[in-house]
Amino acid sequence: MSRPISGATVVAGVAGQPVRQSLSPLLHNAWLAKAGIDGVYVTFAPPADAFQRFAEGLRGGAVRGINVTLPFKEAALSVCDRATSRAAEAEAANLLVFEADGTITADNTDGLGLLAAFALQAPGFDPKAGPIVILGAGGAARGAAAAFKAAGAPEVRVVNRTLAKAEFVAGGLGDVGRAFPMDQAAQALAGVQAVVNATSAGLTNGGRLEVPLEATPEGAVIMDMIYTPLDTDFLTGAKALGRRTVDGLAMLVGQARPSFEAFFGQSPPEGVDVRALAMEALRHAADPAK
Ligand code: NDP
Repeated sequence: MSRPISGATVVAGVAGQPVRQSLSPLLHNAWLAKAGIDGVYVTFAPPADAFQRFAEGLRGGAVRGINVTLPFKEAALSVCDRATSRAAEAEAANLLVFEADGTITADNTDGLGLLAAFALQAPGFDPKAGPIVILGAGGAARGAAAAFKAAGAPEVRVVNRTLAKAEFVAGGLGDVGRAFPMDQAAQALAGVQAVVNATSAGLTNGGRLEVPLEATPEGAVIMDMIYTPLDTDFLTGAKALGRRTVDGLAMLVGQARPSFEAFFGQSPPEGVDVRALAMEALRHAADPAK
């Protein structure tokens, strides 16, 4: 997959801390190679307290744009000159474009990725058809709640260990939002059509999330944003109950597609199985001997 770097190579990347584990370079560089685009996608790891300085230094477009991951999504929004409504509503940006005139545009494609993942892995799912539960009340939960509201969900129930944070996120959704503490999850899950785990519990198998998924209707779709591991205990429990499931890798690929378009001016090419590439990388990261 090695490609020449020319004097006209368009540079894009992802900024995070840590960022070496990011799958985004794998996805974007595979698409670039297939499309024959003179571009490259790299990682940036600014110091945790210096994102603003880092992003300011990129004004002018020497780097076309960056995706932004933990812990910089809120800082990315604050550094921009203009933001899409998606980024403003999520109060976070995962995409910055450095315009040639020196300004910075912020967007948030995580919500698009989430909805694309549902469309791909739960065909026929209609966000307008019933209440949605979001577990968690951090940045990812806020973005998911805003995306489902924008997609027409009649009610978004935010369930979180710290109730005050759930109330804050639900409050931002107006009439559509309701907040629940984690110990009332069973009430929140009754009658829902989808549940999204947007907590970090279960990430690399740490901190198990105890949620009574059997309280969901049989037709409910269960999604986990976590993709390390891909088969989280949460999704395994949902499958054991016979529920349809959506995984976090589908969301990651779904958010990367519009990002690629923003950086390189065209949709990712067909014919690259980036999911298979990512799964291979995840398997290797879990067991480097394989
Ligand atoms: P934050 O740190 O902002 O929020 C974490 C949330 O998890 C909080 O609501 C916290 O509750 C809750 N939480 C943490 N541990 C536990 C536990 N043991 N039991 C119950 N709740 C817990 O993280 P983000 O919102 O940025 O990210 C959340 C997850 O989403 C991460 O795993 C991240 O990797 C994933 N993600 C995946 C993406 C994808 O493309 N697939 C994109 C973006 C994020 P409290 O408020 O009580 O502390």
